[in-house]
Amino acid sequence: MTEVPALNPREYYRLPWSFTDNAISWLEVTTSCNLACEGCYRPNEKNGHKTLAQIAEELAVLKKLRKSDCISIAGGDPLVHPEIVEIVRMIKDGGWKPILNTNGLKLTPELLKDLKKAGVYGFTFHIDTTQKRSDSKASVEADHNALRLKFAQMLANEGGIGCSFNQTVSVKTLDQVPDVIRWAKQYPDIVHTMVFILFRSPDLNDEALDFYAYGKKMEIENMYKESPWGGDRLIKANEVVAKIKEADPLYEPNSYLGGTADPMSTKWLLASRVARGSTTFGYTSPRLMEISQHINHLFKGTWLSYADPKTTSLGRIASFLLAPFDKKMRAVARRIFIHTIKTPLSLFKPAYVQTFAIIQPVDFMADGSLNMCDSCPDITVHNGKLYWSCRLEEIKKYGCFLTAVPRKQTLHVVADKTKKAANQ
Ligand code: SF4
Repeated sequence: MTEVPALNPREYYRLPWSFTDNAISWLEVTTSCNLACEGCYRPNEKNGHKTLAQIAEELAVLKKLRKSDCISIAGGDPLVHPEIVEIVRMIKDGGWKPILNTNGLKLTPELLKDLKKAGVYGFTFHIDTTQKRSDSKASVEADHNALRLKFAQMLANEGGIGCSFNQTVSVKTLDQVPDVIRWAKQYPDIVHTMVFILFRSPDLNDEALDFYAYGKKMEIENMYKESPWGGDRLIKANEVVAKIKEADPLYEPNSYLGGTADPMSTKWLLASRVARGSTTFGYTSPRLMEISQHINHLFKGTWLSYADPKTTSLGRIASFLLAPFDKKMRAVARRIFIHTIKTPLSLFKPAYVQTFAIIQPVDFMADGSLNMCDSCPDITVHNGKLYWSCRLEEIKKYGCFLTAVPRKQTLHVVADKTKKAANQ
């Protein structure tokens, strides 16, 4: 394996999100799903739908405990919930942007119309080779690009709805990232965001950690199961960064969320490409992200998450406005200017902002600390309290988050105790 350069979070803008004032919150409306993705955080339950009354209660908890710009409606697959249109309406009426996180299997043009009327703001389609889909067969990630395009065009035809795609990435599919980026690069006008979520595993193969709940050792294999799809090692955000650069050499992240245990980790890493079709003019600067976040907070009272398609078409204006004060945006503006000189008709076409994001979920560290996303956006409600959605199964099963202990240390502690007992 060739050495991939480490990332330096200090080069990026640290998103100002916090536990109580965040851009995003997470609402799980069902645990039922019509697929079984590798690496899914929830067991698929047959009758897992929450009632509208339960959902209203969870929304009330979010309203009381946490400001947020949007609510990611998740599951299971939210589109299998028979009252999904009403749920979207409830979220919209509550003052949030409803974003549907779905595999898309149940989405029809008719349902999309109803969801739009109810106020849906955007979709994040989870499509990858961890799924056995009936609507697309794929042995590599790029095989799904035709399906991705179908969804993007469906949304574009309806108009005014944000379109994102996410996919899980393991060491086995890491090399396929550039092909998906090359595809997405052609459609910055209708593919607004691509998210790469790194496969999560506690590395049980190494048998490095023991897990405890209330001081009792627990077997967690069923909860964080290893999968052949996950490959023989975990990958980190910097490896995906290197892969995206292969497809777009100008790629450069602008902002991040760090880790709770490792200050050098970038758990959420965002980059915003300014482009027209496959032509990249550059990537927006940390300063532009800072300004956008603070303008949104000043005027709307929340940190910014998703932007609507109209706003994402303002890449040129944003670049020129910031050019006098910001070297990075000046470089973007210069490229737009040169491109316009060479192709004068492009003066009448917008430049779009397209986001590429990398999410590195919980890292199980050798010393037993669990490196979570600092100021996690995917916080959800359970029994009236807020929890990391990626570890909710621990709460459901054990009533608390598990504590990890390095196995070597466990042996060391046991050996110490034995020695002490022998000396008494
Ligand atoms: S801590 Fe877990 S739930 Fe929160 S953003 Fe990170 S991966 Fe998602």
